Amino acid sequence: MLEEYSLLLKSQNTSASFQRLLQEKMGSQEVLITTICQFSKLPVIIPVRHSPINYIHCIFELEYWLEHYQLMYKKVDPTGFACPGCRKFANFKDYGIDYTFYHILQELELLQKNNPDLKLNTSQLIYKQSNKSFYVEQKITKKRFQLPGSNPILGVTRRQQGLNQELFQTESAFIADEISQTLVKLQSLIYNRIYKILKLPSYSQYTFNDLQQKIALRKSDLKQVLIKSMKLISLGRQSLQKDYVFALKKITTNNQVQSILIVYLVQYGIWYEFPLKFKGQPYVQLEQALYVKGEGSLTHNHIYMIGGRKTERGQQSDQVLQISFPKSIIQSGQEAKITELPKLPKEGYNFMGTCYKQQLFVFYGQKQIANFDNAIRYELLNSQYVFRNNHWEQMKLKLVQRFDGSFFTMNHNTFDKLIVFFGGISREPDSFPNHRGPQQHLGQIFSCRDEKFIGDQQQSFKIQFLDDDPYHRSVLASPVFSCPYYGNNQLLLSGESMKFRNTDQRQVYTFDWGNATLKMNDLFSLDPPEHILTPYKKKTIGYDIFCPVQDSEGAIAYGNFYIIHHCEVEQQFYEKNQKIVTQLLKVNLTNGLFVAIPYIDSKISKEIADQKYEKLEDKKNQEII
Ligand SMILES: [Zn+2]
Repeated sequence: MLEEYSLLLKSQNTSASFQRLLQEKMGSQEVLITTICQFSKLPVIIPVRHSPINYIHCIFELEYWLEHYQLMYKKVDPTGFACPGCRKFANFKDYGIDYTFYHILQELELLQKNNPDLKLNTSQLIYKQSNKSFYVEQKITKKRFQLPGSNPILGVTRRQQGLNQELFQTESAFIADEISQTLVKLQSLIYNRIYKILKLPSYSQYTFNDLQQKIALRKSDLKQVLIKSMKLISLGRQSLQKDYVFALKKITTNNQVQSILIVYLVQYGIWYEFPLKFKGQPYVQLEQALYVKGEGSLTHNHIYMIGGRKTERGQQSDQVLQISFPKSIIQSGQEAKITELPKLPKEGYNFMGTCYKQQLFVFYGQKQIANFDNAIRYELLNSQYVFRNNHWEQMKLKLVQRFDGSFFTMNHNTFDKLIVFFGGISREPDSFPNHRGPQQHLGQIFSCRDEKFIGDQQQSFKIQFLDDDPYHRSVLASPVFSCPYYGNNQLLLSGESMKFRNTDQRQVYTFDWGNATLKMNDLFSLDPPEHILTPYKKKTIGYDIFCPVQDSEGAIAYGNFYIIHHCEVEQQFYEKNQKIVTQLLKVNLTNGLFVAIPYIDSKISKEIADQKYEKLEDKKNQEII
């Protein structure tokens, strides 16, 4: 089906109607033309447009258009839909490749490749009617460079071959391409650094080659880390299972609120929904609970839910619940079960922790207490427990104090599983959180196997800030999630205090916990879609506080990090119910680019998955090295 549609797109050249639009749009003026996919916000390589067309910025990248098609065709064919680029009514068969623009983009790529120092603004082109030519501007100087005209030209054979071949079926070829792009970028970064170091007086006796020799070994290590970190596999029917991401979603049916469990199997690409019942009643989740993915049993996956805030002011929970659902959900529709485990010794919310060898580790947490005058006081718990042999044991480690802090977990070949704690905000004397005040810059790394913090006597590390920007020092607090990114690095995303000057665009940071450095991610120009970076806690007058991500560990497959993310939709004053959109975020670990994939009905999802499953070979998964 997908293949057929892909062929249809390639057989339809939509250039003519776009060229007509260009002529109509302009007298003797110039026109700005975007090169960014209106869907993914990523640069277009193979442009898809519909015909007829009357909006100049309606353009999609073939890969994402096909992804969209796969998700949507059942719902909208043959009735049609509003084009996601221009809102015009359209059908999937109206779309095709804009081959002329494709040639222009190829020329742009070539120009950039041959002149890496030019720093071109490739996100838009300028079209001039007078000579029917496309231009690209330099970023700062705005100097223009002409791209060869709109007639098909020589020198673009590589991509054309790709188009005619099965480019999109060989996912691994795509990934390999991205790995090599990444390596080229790393290479230029390394050269850059070497040149800078050579200028330092203390290095005057060295040559460029000397320094290059010194890092040669490290470079090949890096390549290995990069490849290993992506867990590339070729799928076989016999070993598909396990890796999943989950979320709890509140839904309202018959005026009753309840929570359902959503599971996305990253290897198959299937969404599942499970209704949740607890003590015979529909379950309603608590906010800011700790959710932990357990190791599960042979046949079942386990998720733990610990603590959380109740809707009454100053009330929180000490409840520990285990959700259990079958690992073999593919074969038959099954249900999820909730069981209650012994209560955590303290009530609270915002706990941090993980599961290791069937033991649950729970750290920190905080508590709200309503005073006699009904004012809320915040108490920091700073406590730590481990759950094993069916009871909670208190641990006696020295915790660095943190309020609203952050954590992520890492699987490490020397230490097994590690939890890295960092961030947190300070409190006003009246115990209110102070989001604009100083942040906690001490981190700690907990080794689950050894049950202690690793490092020197103090067992904490001071986070270093590589960029000398005062704002930068106050960004730690509580990111929404983070993903592994080459070896010791994590990409940190969003969070209440991670928004630039609290109003501007949000930013993404790299945190190298191996040497405790935090810096703005400068290797790639990360531009996550704005809606992904919603605040952790919006001003929700009358609404519940809500958590955008519950499964902070996410999962990795096909070189991508997956996580389920909820975002709050802007609300009209008169609307009663909180509107929340659930989506899958896919972060490409080779280059940090984001794609948001909408949540689809699990029935449709299952049908698509069944088709995919049919195509798989009857063998075990194989790692691709
Ligand atoms: Zn359109």
